[in-house]
Amino acid sequence: MKPSTETDAVPAAVAAARAAAGWWAGLGWDGRRRALLAWKRTLAGRVEELAAQIRAETGKPHGDAVLEVMLAVEHLDWAARHARAVLRRRRVPAGLLAANQAASVGYEPLGVIGVIGPWNYPVYTPLGSISYALAAGNAVVFKPSEHTPGVGRWLAERWAEAVPGPAVFQAVTGDGETGAALCRAGVDKLAFTGSTATGRTVMAACAATLTPVVVEAGGKDALIVAADADLDAAARAAAFGGFGNAGQTCAGVERVYVERSVYEPFLDRLAELARATRPGEEPDARYGRMTTPAQAAIVAAHIGDALARGGRAVVGGPAAVRPPFVDPVVLADVPEDSLAVTEETFGPTVVVNPVRDLDEAVERANASRYGLAASVFTGSRRTAADLAARLRAGAVSVNAVLGFAAVPALPFGGVGDSGFGRIHGADGLREFSRPKSVTRQRFAAPIDLLRLDRRPAALARATRLFRLRHARG
Ligand code: NDP
Repeated sequence: MKPSTETDAVPAAVAAARAAAGWWAGLGWDGRRRALLAWKRTLAGRVEELAAQIRAETGKPHGDAVLEVMLAVEHLDWAARHARAVLRRRRVPAGLLAANQAASVGYEPLGVIGVIGPWNYPVYTPLGSISYALAAGNAVVFKPSEHTPGVGRWLAERWAEAVPGPAVFQAVTGDGETGAALCRAGVDKLAFTGSTATGRTVMAACAATLTPVVVEAGGKDALIVAADADLDAAARAAAFGGFGNAGQTCAGVERVYVERSVYEPFLDRLAELARATRPGEEPDARYGRMTTPAQAAIVAAHIGDALARGGRAVVGGPAAVRPPFVDPVVLADVPEDSLAVTEETFGPTVVVNPVRDLDEAVERANASRYGLAASVFTGSRRTAADLAARLRAGAVSVNAVLGFAAVPALPFGGVGDSGFGRIHGADGLREFSRPKSVTRQRFAAPIDLLRLDRRPAALARATRLFRLRHARG
């Protein structure tokens, strides 16, 4: 569906959101929870309709679209139910120096949040910001990808039906220029999900008005297979994480590092799964078309570069790219400086390289400018914990891929070129809030230093206590 460009409508949408933000904040925890759960019930009740809309715009199979909605709704439910517990004002210890104060911290909404979303998971990904921003008491203006405007409009229409009243959640459709207008529109925070390059542009635009940003950007995620791993499970996970959604998953599997002693058996298993997998138009295909024609060209370039530098195509090769589809591609022994290892491919291709040991696996996994997620397959809990601690990534899944996606209590976000800030979980709620500290003096301090006529004796006593407390031991 071609987007109707609503760039001119952005300032009015943000103004309407600002007017609605006070009403929304005023509903309080219970009122917002009721409203969010009403919206949730609408989305869940019309899951088939939403999945059809996702499928029409992205080309993904029906089951994948349904799963995406399920995951998004799980997060929406969590955000609605946990906002109060995470964000309400709570007492904190005042400490020895301020024992006469009662101290508390509370989290207030920022006001209006601009959300810019990508096309690959047009519901799950933006709702990771939208649900948490709304639950924290903000109004939201959402700019969906130009490839998925219908999904964005559908979500906003269902909101208006479920939560009639001021414009707490709106969608404005259009291309990059509409997104740029949202950056300039004076929102209180901008949550961007998309490529690293656009993330930089968004951040630069937001700098002009000192608008804070959350950047959820690309990834080049690694999966590590230890010699003691269940190789069948690891191969199944690599196939799902690499080829599922045509590889168009920010936290999907793009690189696999396998301990040399199990390299060939692992490669055989993955190759067998790849050969048995074909994309298609059918609703029950294993995966669908590339959503954008430009992406197929990038995938072809990465395959060509890997082979030109001496990598092997164990399954597929340049002929696998037959737009709009790309068949599964398994590349082996690919030099670490080739595009298929260093750049986000975002296609159904997996690079599988052998490593001497797990130290080398971690070293290579971490030698990326991206750091979104990583996976580890091992039979040892101790090894898993050790690798999870050493991997430079926002999330690590052990003996699974994308294990975090269905755990709403876990924060999600990247390191390095994968971005910064966190959506999901308690951290995701706080990301869209402003902490406010309050102290209340309960009685006059026995040693009061916060006065102009400070007594020398008080300062001497305080200094003695200070030395006792901090200068010993
Ligand atoms: P893009 O960066 O191309 O676009 C993302 C969004 O930004 C779109 O809505 C786009 O609009 C908009 N946009 C484009 N130019 C501007 C601009 N100058 N100012 C403001 N907004 C602008 O990403 P894709 O849509 O191609 O999504 C794929 C990328 O998203 C991949 O890199 C993937 O890894 C990443 N991603 C990251 C996730 C995460 O959580 N870390 C999750 C999902 C995806 P338009 O579409 O109209 O151009």
